Amino acid sequence: MSFTTNGLVCSHHHLYSSLARGMPAPPRTPDSFLSILENVWWRLDAALDLDMIYWSAALGAAEALCNGTTAIIDHHESPFAIEGSLDAIKNACDMVGVRSNLCYGITDRWSGSKMTSEVSPSSAMTAEARRGLDENIRFLKEGGRGMLGVHAAFTCGDETLAAVADAASQLDVGVHIHVAEGAEDSDAGARLENLAQDNWLLVHAVHLDRPLRGTLAHNPRSNMNNAVGYAHPTQWDNKVVLGTDGIGADMLEEARLGYVRLRESNVTETPDTVWTWLSNGEQFFPEVRHDVVTWNYDHVDSPWHVAFTPGIRCTSVHVNGTEVVRDGTPTQFDIEEVRAKAAEAATRLHARLAS
Ligand SMILES: [Zn+2]
Repeated sequence: MSFTTNGLVCSHHHLYSSLARGMPAPPRTPDSFLSILENVWWRLDAALDLDMIYWSAALGAAEALCNGTTAIIDHHESPFAIEGSLDAIKNACDMVGVRSNLCYGITDRWSGSKMTSEVSPSSAMTAEARRGLDENIRFLKEGGRGMLGVHAAFTCGDETLAAVADAASQLDVGVHIHVAEGAEDSDAGARLENLAQDNWLLVHAVHLDRPLRGTLAHNPRSNMNNAVGYAHPTQWDNKVVLGTDGIGADMLEEARLGYVRLRESNVTETPDTVWTWLSNGEQFFPEVRHDVVTWNYDHVDSPWHVAFTPGIRCTSVHVNGTEVVRDGTPTQFDIEEVRAKAAEAATRLHARLAS
């Protein structure tokens, strides 16, 4: 019996989504995964500026910390604010005191100020994809912690995928990429199988048709929300980690949902499987093993207990010996100020989306 755990890790997040809550409804109701991307996320990311990115990340990181999540692997895109975007996110996470592993999602779907409707394997690398690659490389070479980001194979030509894989091996970092999230990207396995390495982070893999090297990031809530299908993460030999894909960073909640979704597909499964995915995130942030998160529940170290106990709350967090959350409230920054500044940025963002 224990009231404490290590710091939790969100192994796939989109901190830019924090300000999406309350955004204007899209022009038409999305009726597929691709139209959700086109009508919600690709409109939102195109409207972001560096100030919005900073406050969105600060709010998302603050909410993560209050849920005992002390480390986040983030995947970012802002096609009209590429340069410096990773610094904005890093500065926000540093201000909050959450560790981050960052990347910029390279894509060929933008060309100039226009979104390209069809990207094919033979599409040439766009100037925007080059700028995204440069932002990743700049950030890493200046000492930033991260990977090279790619949006997804289906929005990149083979030239771009090869350039990223080459740069990643030169920099000795992994590639953080959405893989076969929807049926639109079902040839990702064929296109990536000669590129992927053991240090790649493969996100979703719902429609993956063959094994790929790398760690697999499973995002059960997001997959259900986008109706892309169940990823069956146990079908692969890959190490599995748990992410939220931008829907907050309450990792106990994600694990509980991941467990019932797993159990729905196989009634002999146990919560231990999913809690192993959660703790596997520590491979990216070994330091979280020294964090101490205290919860208001006396069996928080038991997956069977937690899986069947909704509403367990984080009461305090110690990072490097400092109490950064006390009685559920951050001690090192003003959470009310973060909420107020994030609300101001959200108002500007939503006005842009409405116009
Ligand atoms: Zn994602």
